[in-house]
Amino acid sequence: MFTTNDIRATFLDYFAGNGHQIVPSSSLVPHNDPTLLFTNAGMVQFKNVFTGQETRPYSRATTAQKVVRAGGKHNDLDNVGYTARHHTFFEMMGNFSFGDYFKAEAIELAWNLVTGTFGLPKEKLLTTVYADDEEAATLWRKIAGLPDDRIIRIPTSDNFWRMGDTGPCGPCSEIFYDHGPEVAGGPPGSPDEDGDRFTEIWNLVFMQYFENPPGTRSPLPRPSIDTGLGLERFAAILQGKRDNYDTDTFRALILASAEVTGQDPDGPFNASHRVVADHLRSTSFLIADGVLPSKDGRGYVLRRIMRRAMRHLHLMGTTEPTFYKLVPALIRQMGEAYPELIHARALIEGTMKGEEERFKAMLDRGLSLLADETEHLGDGAPLPGAVAFKLYDTFGFPLDLTQDALRGTSHSVDVAGFNEAMDVQRKRARAAWSGSGDSATETVWFEARDTFGATEFLGYTTETSDAEV
Ligand code: ATP
Ligand code: MG
Ligand code: MG
Ligand code: MG
Repeated sequence: MFTTNDIRATFLDYFAGNGHQIVPSSSLVPHNDPTLLFTNAGMVQFKNVFTGQETRPYSRATTAQKVVRAGGKHNDLDNVGYTARHHTFFEMMGNFSFGDYFKAEAIELAWNLVTGTFGLPKEKLLTTVYADDEEAATLWRKIAGLPDDRIIRIPTSDNFWRMGDTGPCGPCSEIFYDHGPEVAGGPPGSPDEDGDRFTEIWNLVFMQYFENPPGTRSPLPRPSIDTGLGLERFAAILQGKRDNYDTDTFRALILASAEVTGQDPDGPFNASHRVVADHLRSTSFLIADGVLPSKDGRGYVLRRIMRRAMRHLHLMGTTEPTFYKLVPALIRQMGEAYPELIHARALIEGTMKGEEERFKAMLDRGLSLLADETEHLGDGAPLPGAVAFKLYDTFGFPLDLTQDALRGTSHSVDVAGFNEAMDVQRKRARAAWSGSGDSATETVWFEARDTFGATEFLGYTTETSDAEV
């Protein structure tokens, strides 16, 4: 059986053997893009290479990239624990050509790795192409010998990639795996494509145009390749599992969560164990890359993730800080590939423990307030925005934590009401400010307050740049 660690190493070796430079993962905090909350794809560290602003001593590269998708354009947070294939933190394996090889070789390299090196049966695979990209469809037919009904033409932007409003862009082509008719879900492009039956494992981006101004495309003189394969999804398939959370890495983390909570890993708290295992990874990797829980921006996204995990641990009956006790299990699984976890271990554990100590007291009281309030609600009635706001403002409950806590009940949060309550508070603070008489200073102060107050919601509303794959 291929372990997740074997698969990562085999992927990198394969591309190294095909002339690619193995480049280390970049940090989860993008250093070259202030518009991006977290590194959300393998190409992020190569953006300037693709645009030609930067050159490297190699024209082919391969990486295992740490990625977080818990805010901005790609926000998979609400799926986590509840679908078989979404994580907040995952590893995106990729190969890149900077004006070197193009479509034919990219397809051939990917196909030979999946069906040759890793031996997946061709009958279980299908591909998508952008509807206008006849060239890609022809190549899949020729190189992979796929019949036409397993080369699905997608006309939407899902299969057309753009770096931003202007810049390199081009069609994409994805490889999907069919878990079989026992699993619910339809093929890509169908109305029930969101089910778990057909899993997207690899996205190949063919950067062949340059767009500037928007809507005006010219061919790139040296087209490039950018790809992204989800390591956890691929591992699940290679290990004969339908669910990422049944892979070696996740199973070990779930068993650790079962041990510290004393709750059956496969019992009624299964979803909680999954959330905890996922959030343990994103929390630890974010802290190792220098993000700390805070009131705004990246730190607030981290805080939301941590507090959500802590609520699930609390739900499983823990009374003492517990989250940090899971770090050694993570280091056992991933410390060799990511030594930063080992180096930052004291910081990770200390930050988790401190946050859980602070949050624990409020969590108890907030949850009992929530229970009291929902008891009085009629079936299906929304939780008033004012209550969600009180939970946020007084008990430190991020909105999504309250939403997650209401999952499985007939209630959801009146989000508009929540935002209104937030607005009212902001205005009241402004009105209550009797002032120093120095109106210039006050204007600056309130502008700053509005800005920083608003950034608490970055994770819900801000569109980050279009980086994808
Ligand atoms: P999906 O449609 O399943 O949400 P995507 O199209 O958003 O995936 P890409 O941006 O194409 O994903 O990323 C490349 C690969 O990364 C995907 O093919 C998939 O294997 C993997 N991937 C994407 N999102 C996640 C996630 N939240 N957790 C785990 N793997 C993911
Ligand atoms: Mg997605
Ligand atoms: Mg997709
Ligand atoms: Mg994709």
